[in-house]
Amino acid sequence: MESDDTFKKQTEIGPQYSNEPVFTLQCNQCESTVCRRGMSAVLLANAEVQLFSTDCPEICDVATTTNLFLAENCDCWLVNMACINCGNCLGYNVRVPCRDCLSSSNNGHLWMFYVGAVSSYERLNYKGEEVLLWGNLNEDEKKYEQFLKDQDICCR
Ligand SMILES: [Zn+2]
Ligand SMILES: [Zn+2]
Repeated sequence: MESDDTFKKQTEIGPQYSNEPVFTLQCNQCESTVCRRGMSAVLLANAEVQLFSTDCPEICDVATTTNLFLAENCDCWLVNMACINCGNCLGYNVRVPCRDCLSSSNNGHLWMFYVGAVSSYERLNYKGEEVLLWGNLNEDEKKYEQFLKDQDICCR
């Protein structure tokens, strides 16, 4: 049987996540936007721990430390992630996922934000009309890029 994996170039998010809303996350100390692609998640190793996860934080607004440490509930190796603007510890980045986490069903996100460190807002689509869902995220970003290009042409 032919696999259609070659067509899954963008975020390889499972269909079970496509109806999850996309969250914008702000540092709760300085209100910098630290992530525009947040997803509400629970810790794989401990479903009582609520987190926000992302495939990509705002690179200009977060920094990671270099010291690896072991996760509390499993064998993943982590580094701390902090807000670059105020130093608030926001969460962590999984540098080396453990076997348990890799084999369990997960959304593939390696960046985690502590619920207590950020304020969350449901992100709207680029038109500002409705809450953006993960299943529509890539398409919406493409449309927004096109929209910006069109604007550019108009202004010349
Ligand atoms: Zn793990
Ligand atoms: Zn901050």
